[in-house]
Amino acid sequence: MIQILRRSISAAVRTGAVVPTGVMALTVALAASASPASAQTQAEYDTQIRQLMNHPAVRAAMEHIEETDDQTMADLRELTQIPAPPFMEEERGRAFLAKLQEIGVDSAWVDEVGNVIGLRRGTGDGEVLALAGHLDTVFPPETDVTIRESGDTLFAPGIADDTRGLATILAVLRAMNEANVRTDGDVLFIGNVGEEGLGDLRGVKHLFREGGPRIDTFISVDGTSSSGITHMGLGSHRYRVTFIGPGGHSWGAFGLPNPAHAMGRAIRYFQDGADPYVRNAPFRTSYNVGRIGGGTSVNSVPFESWMEIDMRSEGVETLNDVDAILQGAIRRAVAEENDIRTRGEPLTVDVDMIGDRPSGEIAEDHPFVQRAAAVTRALGMEPSFGRSSTDSNIPISMDIPAITIGGGGQGFGAHSLDEWFRNEDGPTGVQRVMLVVLSQVGVTQAS
Ligand SMILES: [Zn+2]
Repeated sequence: MIQILRRSISAAVRTGAVVPTGVMALTVALAASASPASAQTQAEYDTQIRQLMNHPAVRAAMEHIEETDDQTMADLRELTQIPAPPFMEEERGRAFLAKLQEIGVDSAWVDEVGNVIGLRRGTGDGEVLALAGHLDTVFPPETDVTIRESGDTLFAPGIADDTRGLATILAVLRAMNEANVRTDGDVLFIGNVGEEGLGDLRGVKHLFREGGPRIDTFISVDGTSSSGITHMGLGSHRYRVTFIGPGGHSWGAFGLPNPAHAMGRAIRYFQDGADPYVRNAPFRTSYNVGRIGGGTSVNSVPFESWMEIDMRSEGVETLNDVDAILQGAIRRAVAEENDIRTRGEPLTVDVDMIGDRPSGEIAEDHPFVQRAAAVTRALGMEPSFGRSSTDSNIPISMDIPAITIGGGGQGFGAHSLDEWFRNEDGPTGVQRVMLVVLSQVGVTQAS
């Protein structure tokens, strides 16, 4: 209510409002709204998006997306059946690169970590937008990625997350080229590596490295949702902690410091500290000891015990606080286990950070988020705003406007062998992605 009130007041005091009619006026209006000082009402964003959709080249591109839906589905089938396990994305990346080149970009390359990047130049010096889908899946190399069909449902691991994103990005490029949509800003069409699991967003981290390509706005196309807009990152830290001791016979060498016992203490102290903290934390926060292992037999003092831990928070500081609780618990557990030993060398511990995804958010009233919402409404859907752990975490944490949106259609069972995709209103999702891109980089002229 407060927000709506503020918006109507700002609309009322606005002076000299110009309703843009021509194409050039549209470009100017879009560029001007990039400044947070010129806060606009929802109705104004809606008007801009309607004007964008009435632009002849944009209208032609939207039609093209519907007419070439078979091609989009063919891309989806082909790419889905090229395995892309974590850290093994090269083959799918090569296929994606070939498709970018075939459809047509000004230049295309593969960077040092395996991100595939195609540059489509704009006409002026507008901002640079990156449109990215992730090449990798969660599935190991031996997984059968053959598509099984049942009616209009396509079953295959990775088909929705995120092969659909890749197919959607290709469809957007194809439609923009076919309809000769000219943009002010450059668009980078990207298939990036390392989104899933231990990939730890390494592809996008590399894109946003110091000295990397200029990117002013970032869109990750991930999954299928045609109405969701993820503009907040969910931060996470992951660790593999290994307790190391001399190891020996459970009877003959009794009294050695025991890595498993130390680990047990560490888990206990971690939870003792984390539980009350999380209950009262200002941001939703979680922690999990997900895997434990080690030891060689029931009658041996282990020489090594290990555990893997995941912690997440909507807040940067709260995530750091839970992390500090873990580190303290580990130090205390090792010290205590070493104190009670009666023989042998003391335990040591390796704390290996295996995941680091920063948190943060782009304000819901940011023009980029609001344009995405207006596009969603213009296509007849109600936008929903959310928080998630996606490739956008990286730019969001750097205060670079970034959102994650779906590539259209229906999908279910991400990260499971029963994952499926159904092409229900798929083209609408593709149109939505394209319109969000165009609303941000500005359309300059018709063919
Ligand atoms: Zn994904």
